[in-house]
Amino acid sequence: MSDPRPVETWLTDMDGVLVHEEEPIPGAAEFVEALKASGKRFLVLTNNSIFTPRDLRARLLGSGIDVPEDCIWTSALATADFLHAQRPQGTAYVVGEAGLTTAMHEVGYVMTDRQPDYVVLGETRTYSFEAITRAIRLIEAGARFIATNPDPSGPSTQGTLPATGSVAALISTATGRQPYYVGKPNPLMMRSALNRLEAHSETTVMVGDRMDTDIVSGLEAGLRTILVQTGSTRPEHVERFPYRATRVVDSIADLVDLAREAAPEA
Ligand SMILES: [Mg+2]
Repeated sequence: MSDPRPVETWLTDMDGVLVHEEEPIPGAAEFVEALKASGKRFLVLTNNSIFTPRDLRARLLGSGIDVPEDCIWTSALATADFLHAQRPQGTAYVVGEAGLTTAMHEVGYVMTDRQPDYVVLGETRTYSFEAITRAIRLIEAGARFIATNPDPSGPSTQGTLPATGSVAALISTATGRQPYYVGKPNPLMMRSALNRLEAHSETTVMVGDRMDTDIVSGLEAGLRTILVQTGSTRPEHVERFPYRATRVVDSIADLVDLAREAAPEA
């Protein structure tokens, strides 16, 4: 890395960096083991708000990648963290799955459909017309609109799945109100991850597969960034972006040695 200061902390995206869906990317398991052995702190980040860290740990373990539960940071956790900082002990009407509702409960939020402070939208596979109608009416009545992540769609083995951003667009069209998105590319997701680790931006690296989410938000949070070319951003498109990653590598396998370097003395 061009920066002389040693890397003390790592943040890494999950899908497209460590796994493709359920399939491990070669080098991912070794990378995580190297980080654990080095003693350096790290978090695996995902914009997906469906799952709890415990669920995600189990899914990664199924792919042969052993990430401790407390080393996983989701847009649901970042959203709960943000709302707790903004309005402690608040109330929310939540449209989402266990990943989001558990995170909201853990920061002390009360779920209600009676004059909530916020409507919080996350990823789900079972959106109901009634729930969306309720969300729209609560926003019209004054609830503040928050969404975990802006991704319009997600991958699946069968093809495209509509994601949080698409449902947010539906609610926005009906209400004329835009949500505040907490997940990537909002650098808030990186800053909350740094806070969680009590880490400093200047000595932290963000690894991602998307220039327009992982790399730009890492950059805006003041981190060094590494793009891997095993995911969304095609190699031929890397130079088209108006910002650059600190470093571009083929895959996570190229970072195992760097991850293995011992943590600097505190
Ligand atoms: Mg990704």
